[in-house]
Amino acid sequence: EQDVSEYRKSLAIRVSGFDVPKPIKTFEDCGFPSQIMNAIKKQGYEKPTSIQCQALPVVLSGRDIIGIAKTGSGKTASFVLPMIVHIMDQPELQKEEGPIGVICAPTRELAHQIYLEAKKFAKAYGVRVSAVYGGMSKLEQFKELKAGCEIVVATPGRLIDMLKMKALTMMRATYLVLDEADRMFDLGFEPQVRSIVGQIRPDRQTLLFSATMPRKVEKLAREILSDPIRVTVGEVG
Ligand code: ADP
Ligand code: MG
Repeated sequence: EQDVSEYRKSLAIRVSGFDVPKPIKTFEDCGFPSQIMNAIKKQGYEKPTSIQCQALPVVLSGRDIIGIAKTGSGKTASFVLPMIVHIMDQPELQKEEGPIGVICAPTRELAHQIYLEAKKFAKAYGVRVSAVYGGMSKLEQFKELKAGCEIVVATPGRLIDMLKMKALTMMRATYLVLDEADRMFDLGFEPQVRSIVGQIRPDRQTLLFSATMPRKVEKLAREILSDPIRVTVGEVG
């Protein structure tokens, strides 16, 4: 226990919550299947970043998480890698339709970046990733979603549009990520985010990442996460 707290200190992370799993030291510690390990190596990721060391075991254990760390700390892989494992763990992958993993991000640029990152790891498993954001043809996106996907990366407004058009159902969605939650609130997406969360079954796993935790985001986190573990990197938050 002393060793674990020393190790957390060396990573400059703070944690709170019940039964926090031990942080990992290497990607091998995660027990990822070989295709994921190969994709990690192909990316040139030698060892996990601070947030990844603690967030990966938390998310892989199925727990909800609040991850607070500044831009550039490696938050994307913290939710993308366990998402692939989560999807592969679904017993009846083919029987239902609609995404299993739903990721909301504040801007089309961010949504696109996450989409590219998710594709790198999803490809080897035949997991389909769709990106849905403003500035692209709604009809094209509608068609793409209708064709089916396991992961959707979206800006909140456009995802609401697609849900209204019945381009997708949230029937299979069990893994929800709110990335850059503070920026989504800054951009006025709180109502859309709340509406999306309300359409996803309550027994989902929920992950919230943010660079800062303003009161409104804190309040949302209290309302929509169950027994979350909070991981804070450095002095932010
Ligand atoms: P954040 O979401 O916290 O702003 P990103 O997930 O976008 O950060 O990651 C920032 C950069 O670090 C990206 O270029 C990403 O490819 C890279 N990166 C992520 N994890 C690792 C790692 N374990 N080793 C090396 N580079 C990494
Ligand atoms: Mg990010």
